[in-house]
Amino acid sequence: VSAAPAAAASAPRVSAADGPSGCAPLPVLGRDVTVPLVTGGEVTYAALDYAASAPALQRVWDDVAAYAPYYGSVHRGAGYLSQLSTELFENARRTVAEFLDCRAGDQVVFTRSTTDSLNLLAAALPDDCQVFVFESEHHAALLPWRGARVTFLDAPDSPERAVRALEHALAARDPHGPALLCVTGASNVTGELWPVRELAAAAHAHGARIVLDAAQLAPHHAVSLRGLDVDWVAFSGHKLYAPFGAGVLAGRADWLREAEPYLAGGGASRKVTRREDGGVEVEWHDSAARHEAGSPNVIGAYAIASACKALGEAGFGALAAREERLVRTVRNGLADVPEVRFLSLFGDDAPRVGVLSFVVDGWNSSHFAAALSAEYGIGVRDGLFCAHPLLRALLGGDPQDQGECGAPEAAPGGTSLNAIRVSFGAGT
Ligand code: PLP
Repeated sequence: VSAAPAAAASAPRVSAADGPSGCAPLPVLGRDVTVPLVTGGEVTYAALDYAASAPALQRVWDDVAAYAPYYGSVHRGAGYLSQLSTELFENARRTVAEFLDCRAGDQVVFTRSTTDSLNLLAAALPDDCQVFVFESEHHAALLPWRGARVTFLDAPDSPERAVRALEHALAARDPHGPALLCVTGASNVTGELWPVRELAAAAHAHGARIVLDAAQLAPHHAVSLRGLDVDWVAFSGHKLYAPFGAGVLAGRADWLREAEPYLAGGGASRKVTRREDGGVEVEWHDSAARHEAGSPNVIGAYAIASACKALGEAGFGALAAREERLVRTVRNGLADVPEVRFLSLFGDDAPRVGVLSFVVDGWNSSHFAAALSAEYGIGVRDGLFCAHPLLRALLGGDPQDQGECGAPEAAPGGTSLNAIRVSFGAGT
């Protein structure tokens, strides 16, 4: 994945005091929280689960607090506060468009999350659309395509094989119908970067479109719709240092404009009239509002925009350099423990974001993670990471019948069918 032109222009801000490997951590909420240990005493909590939800940046929190006393309903009222809210909401849309380096004509729709964004796109697919998705995806990317014909591709063992597998599958499809590839930019399990630009080129060469699941990529790398040549991007605010409850789907307007509204209701409709037969006739908006019925999450959108600005100013180059160093530290620290096995599809040295998963042979990962928390105050993730087929491919065994993202018992013989994930971010 290449850096966006916008990011290249904003040089990483690394001061001499930060050393050669990146910037200082950014202030985030909960950074100084102390937690009790079962062994007695307490320690400062080490939050190493950024891939699940990143703590909000202090700056985002401050921005929201500064706005909170003034908020009013958007797009509805003539009052000053309503106008202010409307302006902030629409400015947030523009900020996100800039952050994603959108093309002219692209739409930014505010949703609840990445899951919501991909479900929205799934609901907007044209008739007979064929969807292609690698089995290694997060369930949010794997499962929303229920009405469509879906081709599941095996988890590849290299970025090149991913591109070849897609080309092969696309070459075998009906070339006249619409098609869509849904792919992650960075795996939530292995942290590995996917060859998004190459996959986009392969998709387009075969007349297909591509939606990028940037839930894990956007917090670590600049994402450029234009530079990567992807048709849509989806991400979640709570992984991008904003609070829960807001997300984004950005990209081409045509399929979205032609689809039935995702939710029907006020805000999505331009004109509603009574028909002579007693029913109602609706004209829907063509803009992003078409899929944003109801009172939108203005604070969520505003918080996302604040996070986009903060990350742009910090510079992804500097943030990524720090995360790389932290990943190396964990890998080197565990290198001498023979029971530790890191999980990867593309090889241990493949480029990745600050996300690392491993199993400890003979240990149930849930017990291991619980001990890290209770005895050391270190918060990591354990389980199947909402990516059952990938965990099955990486670990062998069958993760069926286990809580979706949760913590199953160790398999007979002590081999863990779940894993431990350590993930870093701007506050670590
Ligand atoms: N895609 C990836 C790669 C993820 O890691 C996640 C969440 O962990 C999602 C999608 C879903 O994000 P959300 O739960 O915010 O909808």
